Amino acid sequence: MKLENISLTTPYLDLDPIFYHEVTPTPLKNPKLVSYNSDAAQLLGLESDQNSAEYITQILNGTQLFNGSRPYAMCYAGHQFGYFVPRLGDGRAINLGLVNGWNLQLKGSGQTLYSRQGDGRAVLRSSIREYLMSEAMHALDIPTSRALALISSDEKVAREQWERGAIVLRLSPSWIRFGSFEYFFHANQHAQLEQLADFLIVESFPELVGVEDSYAKMYGEIVKRTAQMIAHWQSVGFNHGVMNTDNMSAIGLTIDYGPYAFLDTFESGYICNHTDQEGRYSFDNQPRIGHWNLAQLARALSPLISEEKIANELEKYGDYFTSTLLELLKNKLGLDTLPDEDSTLFRSLFTTLENGRSDMTPFFRTLSHYKGDRSALLTLSLAPNQLNVWLDVYDKCLCNNTSSTQERHEKMLKCNPKYVLKNYIIQEAIDLAQKDDFSLLNDLLKLAKNPYDEHPEFERYAGPTPLQYTNLKLSCSS
Ligand code: AMP
Ligand code: MG
Repeated sequence: MKLENISLTTPYLDLDPIFYHEVTPTPLKNPKLVSYNSDAAQLLGLESDQNSAEYITQILNGTQLFNGSRPYAMCYAGHQFGYFVPRLGDGRAINLGLVNGWNLQLKGSGQTLYSRQGDGRAVLRSSIREYLMSEAMHALDIPTSRALALISSDEKVAREQWERGAIVLRLSPSWIRFGSFEYFFHANQHAQLEQLADFLIVESFPELVGVEDSYAKMYGEIVKRTAQMIAHWQSVGFNHGVMNTDNMSAIGLTIDYGPYAFLDTFESGYICNHTDQEGRYSFDNQPRIGHWNLAQLARALSPLISEEKIANELEKYGDYFTSTLLELLKNKLGLDTLPDEDSTLFRSLFTTLENGRSDMTPFFRTLSHYKGDRSALLTLSLAPNQLNVWLDVYDKCLCNNTSSTQERHEKMLKCNPKYVLKNYIIQEAIDLAQKDDFSLLNDLLKLAKNPYDEHPEFERYAGPTPLQYTNLKLSCSS
């Protein structure tokens, strides 16, 4: 199928008008297609090579609408850095409708009823970051929104300096957030709260339709998915940066990519967002914040679920998180069986990385080739004695494996990426894109999609991050 033939539906518009605001996208000046992602196109049932750049550009710029599309912005609230904001909403995102189970959304296409003081725009820099990272996370098997295409333009957008406006067309099975429920709870609109829960169940948890205690079960599923998502983040060293409840997906996807970062040298307290002075959203706080956010969602759902049932579901968070993380670490370390939760192997792994100022991505990748010669690993650590002690424990654990060393290497190479898109790498693509050279960006998209493969031409991105670029902080402005 071609883009021209796609037909969208807009079930969200069947809800009360208070849930949304219909709005027409405001086009950018001189739009040009920067990148098109054929993998995401397939999700929509498209044959990727049949769509002209011109048509895709018009779709993203809002000058061409899909059949059946009725663009709208969604209303939500949220806790931002711990403080409740009663009305946020899509201030610069415009939903186009649903096809093949994917809700299409333009980000950066102008003001909506919820823009407050904002211009409704997104700049090229941040749009590239969102576009690349959502595909990179997907390839790492981390639940995430996806992205179909990206356009740039000659539109000037004011941030710390003038920047170019851009639009990403992103996809998610649902754009409902924890903050969507908080909006109706805090506005004392409990009938609408129930309507939203019913909508989410039909949209994203159809197995719960008509089931007893469906709201409690829905909440339980959100608890589980959120815990699993954050366990995945911790396993690869991903710091989201703005885990406000309006940025928490009700179906447990990583959404709203802002000042995120992959850790360079392992630093458990790393804060990627430079406006987050207290480190509320630091790397090691993410699991706790996931729980705090789920507690806010629990409060918002309290008119629909008994206190006891909701507490019961929330209590499972820790177990979901720990069991997922342990399983991921077991695989990353190439172990056939799980050692005890409090085994020295797991407990001292991250302190060993931190004290050695090791970069976890090359560390796990190098470990995937480990056969007993420690020299390559030791060069990755500034605390070689401590690493030697950890490797002694690791050697003993490997003795319990029944699979061969060769099998272990093969498995480890499939779960320890050689390439993650660290900020310094993405920045190189952004710098070129600002000069209208999108080649590196499109190469990085390919790299992001195949993080476990060898890419000899990009070997320079596989090692530890160059010192001058490590653990920088990013501005929230986007
Ligand atoms: P974020 O921090 O990007 O998740 O945004 C928080 C809230 O501010 C959301 O309601 C966004 O829609 C809104 N917002 C962020 N940037 C802009 C902008 N440039 N124009 C309008 N609204 C914005
Ligand atoms: Mg957001």
